[in-house]
Amino acid sequence: MADDAILTLNAGSSSLKFAVYLRGADGLALHSKGQVEGIGTAPHLIARDAGGKVLAEQRWSEGERQTHEDFLGKFLGAVEPYLGDAKLVGVGHRIVHGGTRFTDPVRVTQEVMDALEALVPLAPLHQPHNLAAIRAVAKLRPGLAQIACFDTAFHHALPDLTAHIALPRALTEEAGIRRYGFHGLSYEYLAGALRDRAPNLARGRVIAAHLGNGASLCALRDGRSVDTTMGFTALDGLVMGTRPGALDPGVVLYLMQQRGMSAAEVETLLYKQSGLLGVSGISSDMRALTASDHPHAGEAVALFCFRAAWQAGGLAVSLGGLDGLVFSAGIGEHSPEVRAGICAHLAWLGVALDDAANRAGRERISSEASRVQVWVIPTDEELVIARAAARLLASA
Ligand code: ADP
Repeated sequence: MADDAILTLNAGSSSLKFAVYLRGADGLALHSKGQVEGIGTAPHLIARDAGGKVLAEQRWSEGERQTHEDFLGKFLGAVEPYLGDAKLVGVGHRIVHGGTRFTDPVRVTQEVMDALEALVPLAPLHQPHNLAAIRAVAKLRPGLAQIACFDTAFHHALPDLTAHIALPRALTEEAGIRRYGFHGLSYEYLAGALRDRAPNLARGRVIAAHLGNGASLCALRDGRSVDTTMGFTALDGLVMGTRPGALDPGVVLYLMQQRGMSAAEVETLLYKQSGLLGVSGISSDMRALTASDHPHAGEAVALFCFRAAWQAGGLAVSLGGLDGLVFSAGIGEHSPEVRAGICAHLAWLGVALDDAANRAGRERISSEASRVQVWVIPTDEELVIARAAARLLASA
């Protein structure tokens, strides 16, 4: 009998990350994984099998204006042939914002879409692309089950003390202005992966660091989120590729009132021109910065490490101490310099690295003497989405 296939989609402004899982008698098995970059300009798809072998690579020509929908048709046309006999039975989507209502993955209906649409103002640069992918699949493959999985959901039970923002009650209660937190699919994966590898530690006080283009920290107690550095939007917290992280709101007022910037200009500044890119003036890409000997590149990396450690200190307050630290995502998994830079600022909390293990990229990189265990665990948001989709499809 042919396997069922589940597709996961993580749609951004110009990129689409995807994975295909086969659902057989033994559960889910990764079939392929890949991404398309350059949607809207010159899309380039690359898909690899579970062993990393290239299964498909395709480029589409420049110039032609392509919406997500136009493009998704081409994408499905490129992916379906290499599924062979397997039949696509569902699509799981990463959705950035689920507000206070969506605390678990859900099957997408029109009513769910309307509710997600209403959350666009809370994630204006991410949510529209996530929803465009759902609409495109509905149009191209009507009847195919679609499941929405939320980056906010893992944080839905944040204690009031960490979720509250000190604005007047009328605003916080009626307008839903509170700290939501993001990167929840990654943190759900990391909490489970740590439980498999170090169950005692996973029951304790752990900070997980998702350090990619977007970056945040999550304070985990017994595998549950009790605090996190992103807040009402994905702008808060750490210095990121192109976002400044925590910022005195007075800067925004100054830019608008004294420098005459419009809301749209401030939005572009905060989401696309700040962070590592803004400080270095060179790149938003950590690999390029750690390879550069320009002093501004060094300053950007040093600031990234310092702010991350500074915020980790805050999360240690939420946890009442620290037993473990887990690095993940592009920078956390691949940059020994950044891991060392952050850990050096946390020596006072009892963090000590085994330098050779860190450089070699081992899974456990703390020294024997370290009071805090330090781990590197590759994240897998796609697997979390596929599992949720499989669960909801089975319960239909
Ligand atoms: P996204 O948030 O888009 O999913 P990733 O998790 O892929 O991003 O992380 C992208 C970041 O990881 C970039 O800053 C990139 O430079 C960085 N990165 C990837 N590999 C390395 C490396 N070997 N050394 C330093 N940084 C790296």
